[in-house]
Amino acid sequence: MGHIPSPQTQASSPEASESRDFIREWIREDIRTGRFGGRVHTRFPPEPNGYLHIGHAKSIVLNFGLAQEFGGQCNLRFDDTNPLKESQEYVDAIIRDVRWLGYDWGERLFFASDYFEQLYQWAEELIRRGLAYVDDLSPDEIREYRGTLTEPGRESPYRNRSVEENLDLFRRMRAGEFPEGSRTLRAKIDMASPNLNLRDPVMYRIIHAPHHRTGDTWCIYPTYDWAHGQCDSLEGITHSICTLEFENHRPLYDWFLDALGVYHPQQIEFARLNLTYTVLSKRKLIRLVEEGHVDGWDDPRMPTLSGLRRRGVPPAAIRAFCEHIGVSRTPSVVDIALLEHFIRQDLNRWTPRRMVVLDPLRVVIENYPEDRTEWLEAVNNPEDETAGTRQVPFSRVLYIERDDFMEDPPRKFFRLAPGREVRLRYGYFIRCVDVVKDAQGQVVELRCTYDPATRGGYAPDGRKVRGTIHWVSAPHAVDVEVRLYDRLFAVENPEDVPEGQDFTANINPHSLTVLEHAKAEPSLSDAQPGDTFQFERKGYFCVDTRYTTPERVVFNRTIGLRDTWAKIARRQG
Ligand code: ATP
Ligand code: MG
Repeated sequence: MGHIPSPQTQASSPEASESRDFIREWIREDIRTGRFGGRVHTRFPPEPNGYLHIGHAKSIVLNFGLAQEFGGQCNLRFDDTNPLKESQEYVDAIIRDVRWLGYDWGERLFFASDYFEQLYQWAEELIRRGLAYVDDLSPDEIREYRGTLTEPGRESPYRNRSVEENLDLFRRMRAGEFPEGSRTLRAKIDMASPNLNLRDPVMYRIIHAPHHRTGDTWCIYPTYDWAHGQCDSLEGITHSICTLEFENHRPLYDWFLDALGVYHPQQIEFARLNLTYTVLSKRKLIRLVEEGHVDGWDDPRMPTLSGLRRRGVPPAAIRAFCEHIGVSRTPSVVDIALLEHFIRQDLNRWTPRRMVVLDPLRVVIENYPEDRTEWLEAVNNPEDETAGTRQVPFSRVLYIERDDFMEDPPRKFFRLAPGREVRLRYGYFIRCVDVVKDAQGQVVELRCTYDPATRGGYAPDGRKVRGTIHWVSAPHAVDVEVRLYDRLFAVENPEDVPEGQDFTANINPHSLTVLEHAKAEPSLSDAQPGDTFQFERKGYFCVDTRYTTPERVVFNRTIGLRDTWAKIARRQG
């Protein structure tokens, strides 16, 4: 969309292929021993019940990264087993986001729903072998019968139905003869197992709802537990990587695969990403959207990939962050300042610099001719010589940042004040000679003089100024809107709330500031949605893709300039 491209660096860095985390060690060992014939085949398996967030990025970068590093393949597979919560909108958004992150699954886009018939046939097979039964207990009763960690469960009175009766009932479940919730198909494993997942888990439930892909073909739907391992098996996945909460589901997945006697992938669990000041559960993100705390899934304050994209975060920064944090089996919370550090590092390299005054104060240069415009040379990116320079207009009336002036400055304030001199970036030294106020005593204009000998920013007589400020020529300025964002949550751990409240109590009421009267240098008049810049001294900004119109450019601040992570890292030595 934007015409200034973010450099698409290789999706995996050389360091990553050297990294020695436990998953890579495991895979190397499997390759060494010839397990899976030396193949590496991973998958990213999202459920299309919400938009992807930065936590999913960790899993995407890991799974696609492993495939790249080991010369294997990675599938994109939707775990679309619950039509009540899933939709095509989510499928489309997830596809867009994984592509945007820089990954390609070739022809290997799959859906659990592609396998519904196979899963059904396998379920009949388990019934025939006495390993599954139709249960008439209600969902509440099933929960009640299940027992607890310290107490064994109780067997359902329907557990010992004959194979014939089970087959007949299961087929009638499929045919739609029974109301929703009235029956389930359960695996017949062990109601006394210390692992609750093995206490006759539900394999199918009746849901009379159309599915976004299979329409009304089905009114029974497989549970995630019944579908997931078999989908991995059908796709020939070698390393089925998931987060730690599935560790004690692994014995169940093993049981299903062994009972069916089919190809058996290796499941490996890792700790999910948690970030300070952030919630990363789709259930909670949905609430933020539905309760109107934010302006949709792609609100620039959201930790979703679409929100980060709209905010101006480059995909390469997210990949670099995910590779840097790596994977482990120990749950932890990552400081969001680290993510911000990677965002700045990436943007600093390639974003063009521009001058924009966010909160303008008018400055009249009294000794500058009224009808004159000079074009001054400004550097596009000091980090990149090939970026060249551009011309910015200078004239008698300028805007500077309101907070770059103080009428009564403290000693350490080196910018403009009555009688003081500062350097205008790429321009001249100016001195404030008078202050104009309105009836309320508010400063509305500064009267200044400039020194024509200081063009380029240096005085031939060797006199120094302590401050350099940015500015925009008033008659040439473009009016733009600028949106500044602060963290969506006011506290490090949004879940930390008093009794009776929930995470929404920690929402930061000042997370959005809209500046409607910012003044930009004229080169920004043709900025396109998605374009990203550094505004000198103000941070990194991206042209908003929703609110920008042909008449008016709206900028989102991606991030400020000050790298709090670098500071923390220095302090910690
Ligand atoms: P959520 O808890 O946000 O609802 P989920 O695990 O239910 O997430 P899925 O769509 O099932 O969401 O996730 C797809 C894949 O992404 C899974 O393999 C899951 O383990 C992984 N994943 C989800 N959240 C994180 C996270 N915070 N860190 C790392 N991986 C994650
Ligand atoms: Mg899930």
